[in-house]
Amino acid sequence: MSTKWNPRTTAVHGGTRRSQYGELSEAIFLTQGFAYDSAEQAEARFIASGEDEFIYARYGNPTVRMFEDRIAALEGAEAGFATASGMAAVSGALTSMLRAGDHVVAARALFGSCLYVLEDILRRYGVEVDLVDGTDLDQWRAAIRPDTRVVFFESVSNPTLEVIDIPAVSDLAHAVGAQVVVDNVFATPVFSRAMEQGADVVIYSATKHIDGQGRTLGGVILGSRDYIRKTVEPYMKHTGGSMSPFTAWVMLKGLETMSLRVNAQADSALALTEALTGHAALRRVIYPGHPSHSQNALALRQMAKGGTVLSIDITDGKDAAFRFLNALEVAHISNNLGDAKTIVTHPATTTHQRLPDAQKELLGITPGLVRISVGIEDTADLIADFTGALNAV
Ligand SMILES: *Cc1c(COP(=O)(O)O)cnc(C)c1O
Repeated sequence: MSTKWNPRTTAVHGGTRRSQYGELSEAIFLTQGFAYDSAEQAEARFIASGEDEFIYARYGNPTVRMFEDRIAALEGAEAGFATASGMAAVSGALTSMLRAGDHVVAARALFGSCLYVLEDILRRYGVEVDLVDGTDLDQWRAAIRPDTRVVFFESVSNPTLEVIDIPAVSDLAHAVGAQVVVDNVFATPVFSRAMEQGADVVIYSATKHIDGQGRTLGGVILGSRDYIRKTVEPYMKHTGGSMSPFTAWVMLKGLETMSLRVNAQADSALALTEALTGHAALRRVIYPGHPSHSQNALALRQMAKGGTVLSIDITDGKDAAFRFLNALEVAHISNNLGDAKTIVTHPATTTHQRLPDAQKELLGITPGLVRISVGIEDTADLIADFTGALNAV
């Protein structure tokens, strides 16, 4: 594979492996096992497998390897391990590198399941976890200790779209020898190079922009060859959260068009932000790519565009937010993001429902907050749908 390709070329051709038939499109190797020519070959492969030698689909598979190599090349990572879901990637990346007694510092504004892994699972196994306001460097500075092993955050938080300063937090972590693990879903592999900015490990829920059409669950852990092969792979292959070959094929297909989709989605998100800003029914519109976002300069330093998600805060609270959601005709009420279809979510009553009110307030999840994952529909139709529904409020 060429190392001088630009990302859009890598996203189409990177990591491709062809069988003896020379198929142009990636084949789905829907097989659990691999036959050996001889007992000696089987023995040798269990001692050490080469690049194109596989043993069992839980350990690795040619279609899955193509996806891993392509997304690793895109991210500029030495290696990747594909997982059954984004959460298998988050839990695998963290659990594989931590042991009882280790100290972790994480940003408080996290995807609900990430918070569960940190606060419930890791703590149950004796890992000490401290949560901080990720936008406040002083809080990171105060919480990171000489024995901190891992620092974890979402580079853009859900659903309030706060931006975490990857280079600054990485510098603080690296000063004590801690590893920086970044969940980079909202930034997308198209707009952000988290590894270049200081992350040691980058995680994507491939369910989001990589599939991009809402069909399959998947995830990927990206990092150094040493970390992926010696830490992640043994953990994942023995605990079983590997990606299926069919899913990897869907994800490879998704990667080919990801840049086109995500750029169109971000352009529409910015246009929608501009169209909705100042609307009488809204307290505020939150989009990292717009100058009204308090961290706009940081966002655009870390990301080529502001991402595909914006949030709006409807002044009159829950009932008004529900009237708005119910009046939409193009956008659907659901809870995924990064889909080709525009999706609206009311975090306070769905994705973040289980949080106590005090924590919702701390995280800015107000009763009127609506998260909008912008799809690839016509921008004018989206603006008409959203302004029409807001006028109905
Ligand atoms: C969706 C999401 C996850 C989990 O991914 P799944 O594929 O649903 O398991 C983790 N982190 C963030 C930021 C997400 O948006």
